[in-house]
Amino acid sequence: MSTIAAISTPNAAGGIGIVRLSGEDAVKIADACFRNVAGRALSSLAGYTAAYGHYLDADGSVIDDGVAIVYRAPKSYTGEDIAELCCHGGLFVTQKLLRRVYALGAVPAKPGEFTRRAFLNGKMDLAQAESVMKVISAQGESALKAAGNTLAGNVSKKINGVCESLISAAAALAAWADYPDEDIPAVEQGALRETLSAAAAALEKLIKNYDAGKSVTEGVRTVLCGKPNVGKSTLMNLLSGCERSIVTAIPGTTRDVVEETVRVGDIVLRLSDTAGLRDAGDEVERIGVRIAKDKIGGADLVIAVFDGAAPLTKEDEDLIALCRDKRCLAIVNKSDLPQTPDLGPVYAAFDPVLTLSAKEEASLDMLSDALVSVLGTAGLDFSQEILAGERQRRCCENALGFLREALAALDGGLTFDAVNVEIDCAIGELLTLTGKRASEEVVNEVFRSFCVGK
Ligand code: GDP
Repeated sequence: MSTIAAISTPNAAGGIGIVRLSGEDAVKIADACFRNVAGRALSSLAGYTAAYGHYLDADGSVIDDGVAIVYRAPKSYTGEDIAELCCHGGLFVTQKLLRRVYALGAVPAKPGEFTRRAFLNGKMDLAQAESVMKVISAQGESALKAAGNTLAGNVSKKINGVCESLISAAAALAAWADYPDEDIPAVEQGALRETLSAAAAALEKLIKNYDAGKSVTEGVRTVLCGKPNVGKSTLMNLLSGCERSIVTAIPGTTRDVVEETVRVGDIVLRLSDTAGLRDAGDEVERIGVRIAKDKIGGADLVIAVFDGAAPLTKEDEDLIALCRDKRCLAIVNKSDLPQTPDLGPVYAAFDPVLTLSAKEEASLDMLSDALVSVLGTAGLDFSQEILAGERQRRCCENALGFLREALAALDGGLTFDAVNVEIDCAIGELLTLTGKRASEEVVNEVFRSFCVGK
């Protein structure tokens, strides 16, 4: 297999930059551009050894100085020989060193190729590989804990356990059905039902935990709405701590949807600031309103904002109607001003309703507590197994569907063959999840979202 190389640190100025090489010729290529001050070639070093020296260009001039680290197969991240060339972290120096190793025979690594090789070499399964990106992109303590948990193999262990119980059940069924004349113990229907139910319950729990924890691990698609001038932009700025949206006293100026990710406590909100929900005459404004209505439909959470200092209007009533059956947090803003008495319909339609001033920093804590309560993340335990992403959830959901079919077939008095077909399909889904039987397309899908150098 070719030797790949990439810059594994961010593409920005920083203290240290790392050019990573993996493959048969990793150490040989590193040797060709590195002069160890201690005089020993990197290829003479054992794994997990570091050497200080100079990185050299083709003409012998010094590119930079730094520490080169050697890892030996199979005891490395990828399971292959690896050389990590640490240099000063800068846009130019890392690029120059990378160009040098390309010239010496390394090929550019594709996104996630280091981790893909780790997967192909059996260093980790697909569920673990997927969690690597989750660790990298974790935005809070709990998200990191959940991802680290999957990376440690806890989800895989759980799935493998379920899979093994199904494989034994399927094997017993197949033996009994295929060799009726042999002295094979009859499959006991009650025991089979118990195995299938236990497997289904385990998968249901994984899906439930994932769904509940999603607001922390994946972020919540959130839409912020309310008529013009209620203080949406001010609220958005309070949430994101920056002057991102245009805040102005002229109604209807927030025309386009501005998307931003903010972390409130442990919860990650993927927020859209929308145009006011009113029937505006102006074309641009109307486009914004349409998008806002569509966004409410597609959101996991609606933050509906009302002006506590102004009378309730038709636009507010429209918003209340649009929010029916949606997960909502209502905010009555501008609590610092004299309050209007006619917000009864807001209090009647929403629970909870937060009364606050978006202009006050202290409102952020109230918001954070209200979000925990609305999203139900208070009692979540991220040290439990949590699926790392929608693909894993889909596999569990599909497997669960097949198990339910198997149980229905069993109850409906269908042949064990029919039951076994469903169990086999469920096993297939679980093997896809861990990657033991994943197609090329599935593996490609997993690594497509990776960054280069990981
Ligand atoms: P949007 O159109 O809903 O995005 O509203 P903005 O955030 O642009 O706010 C409209 C006006 O209300 C601005 O002049 C804000 O400064 C003001 N405003 C927003 N929140 C508060 C608040 O809590 N108290 C007071 N007194 N004014 C506010």
